[in-house]
Amino acid sequence: MGVESKKVLGAMLKVPRHFFLDSSFEDFAYQNKAFPIGEEQTISHPYTVAFQSEMLDIKIGDKILEIGTGCGYQTAVLYHLGASVYSIERQHALHHKAKLILNKMRIKAHLHYGDGYLGLPAKAPFDKIIVTAGAPEIPQELFKQLTIGGLMMIPLGSEEQIMTLVVKTNEKEFEKVEFDNFNQRHFRFVPMLKNKQ
Ligand code: SAH
Repeated sequence: MGVESKKVLGAMLKVPRHFFLDSSFEDFAYQNKAFPIGEEQTISHPYTVAFQSEMLDIKIGDKILEIGTGCGYQTAVLYHLGASVYSIERQHALHHKAKLILNKMRIKAHLHYGDGYLGLPAKAPFDKIIVTAGAPEIPQELFKQLTIGGLMMIPLGSEEQIMTLVVKTNEKEFEKVEFDNFNQRHFRFVPMLKNKQ
């Protein structure tokens, strides 16, 4: 599908996607589709996981913050790319389930239950931030927690999203690259919700 990074493809080969899905979806786990993971949420398409990972150019030892752990699939891919992963999920049931699965797979990641809009100030700064839910705009707290020169991959928009790469150039400024209709592919994410919604 146009994913060129051998590192990303290699990491994805190490993560059995069916482990993250209910057994009733086992036969379809390797299709490029989103499936329900409970709490009205979905696992990301494998292409989306590959594309976001590739654009973030993950290097061994990168400290990365993921917003929206969900079932933990993207978390596992980031781990196999050699990153030190912090991930936040606002649905307690999903946070708990992801913890169990990743532990079972001996994948070490720092999983937090909370509101991704706030990020993790105590663990900042991060080299990279990946948002895996559709956000209305770049969350200010997350931008603050990015290192200068750091990258954020974030789908922006409500109904349909434009995948956006944000490069932090200094404390207040950034450049962005929009992947609108990239390779004729559209990205569709569940919404990034505020804590009380
Ligand atoms: N990374 C997951 C994608 C899960 S879908 C994967 O690998 O498949 C996106 C997730 O973002 C959902 O589980 C949803 O509950 C979560 N989410 C939405 N708004 C959030 C917020 N404000 N903070 C943290 N997580 C949030």
